[in-house]
Amino acid sequence: MPKLLLVEDEKSIAEGLAITLEAEGFQVAWVKDGLDAIPAWERVRPDMVVLDLMLPGMSGTEICRAIRARSDVPIIMLTARDAEVDRVVGLELGADDYVTKPFSTRELVARIKAILRRAPRVDDVVNEAPVEAAGVRVDRVRHEVQVDGVVVELPPKEFELLAFLIEHAGRVLTRGQLIDEIWGSDYVGDTKTLDVHIRRLRTRVERDPKTPERIQTVRGVGYRFTDR
Ligand code: CA
Repeated sequence: MPKLLLVEDEKSIAEGLAITLEAEGFQVAWVKDGLDAIPAWERVRPDMVVLDLMLPGMSGTEICRAIRARSDVPIIMLTARDAEVDRVVGLELGADDYVTKPFSTRELVARIKAILRRAPRVDDVVNEAPVEAAGVRVDRVRHEVQVDGVVVELPPKEFELLAFLIEHAGRVLTRGQLIDEIWGSDYVGDTKTLDVHIRRLRTRVERDPKTPERIQTVRGVGYRFTDR
């Protein structure tokens, strides 16, 4: 059941929305004061935030900025009629969409569903702390890799592979485990594909890719990321 945080100070709007959304299978948490929005977001970890702009306590733009600094959760802004500035500001702050008041509940629900269909579920991810081993740091929330303090860009599969290796630093992971975890049933070809990705990864994270120290080959078994 997707969880939705609704931040809206107008009771009639909020109640109407909550009833409709619950009937559509959402679990709705509602706060009406802007100051309650961030604590509610931390507590609920919603799959989606519907955020009014004009709120007592703390404005929708401030709330949007604060949430976006820490999470990719989808945000839909509720803006006043014809307030072009609000819409632009909202999107610049990282809102995913906006709906102009007065809006039809049906339209808002359709937008929410459309965004949830294309958004990855973030609530499982956002709590994950960065992992680090041997000078390589992987932050899944920010989707960022640092090698000796320098940010390194990695393609998605190599990012996943590196993150999984570091999350299990010191342990030998078999080829089968790595392939299942990173490719699952999408895997085509033989285990050479894995070796190719490992080789490319080494060019990014090893001081000397020819004599790898961080990503170690365990002959006949698989790979291990060093925990030293
Ligand atoms: Ca309002």
